[in-house]
Amino acid sequence: MRVYLDPGHGGRNTGTKVGNIQEKTYTLAFATKLKNALHNFYKDFDVALSREQDSYINNPDRARFANEWGADLVISIHVNAHQRADVGGLMCFHVDAVGEEIGSKIMDCAPRGLKRTKSKSYLAQSDDWTKDAYACIEGYNAPVVLVELFFASNPSNLKQGTSRPGTNAMLSAIIQGITLHETNLYFNGKLEDGIDKFK
Ligand SMILES: [Zn+2]
Repeated sequence: MRVYLDPGHGGRNTGTKVGNIQEKTYTLAFATKLKNALHNFYKDFDVALSREQDSYINNPDRARFANEWGADLVISIHVNAHQRADVGGLMCFHVDAVGEEIGSKIMDCAPRGLKRTKSKSYLAQSDDWTKDAYACIEGYNAPVVLVELFFASNPSNLKQGTSRPGTNAMLSAIIQGITLHETNLYFNGKLEDGIDKFK
């Protein structure tokens, strides 16, 4: 399976402040950790990043790279912010049914402290409060999930999100979502070594 990881922002597009670093720096570090973890769990996965450096790439190019590469799944990584410091939690956004299933799984597996009361992925649309998420995940051929890992504007979220145990727990939640997708592909016979081969 080919997994395309998209660390949000980059270059002049810095994103929000995550403690004393910028979102673009945080998302790249997190996506790199996720890539390494996936390689440890799934030796046969191909994992690519939309950017390996602090470079500016617009959203249509990110999608074009993934489509040309033949991604089977896209995970876009961001950090959230809100004017109210008490708003928190890990949120996922989708535009397709498979993305909805994976995003809901990730939200359901989110660590305590980042788990929201509603653990259902949000449908991203071009014309409402989800439009920023929509702009990041439109145009992909593969199922896509945008993960807003935590709210940097929420002090306890920020502490958890920048700690090692918190980072590991968020990585674990995302890997469980990816594993659900891998399992579904296998049992639907859509993977080359899927069970349909044995019919
Ligand atoms: Zn962002």
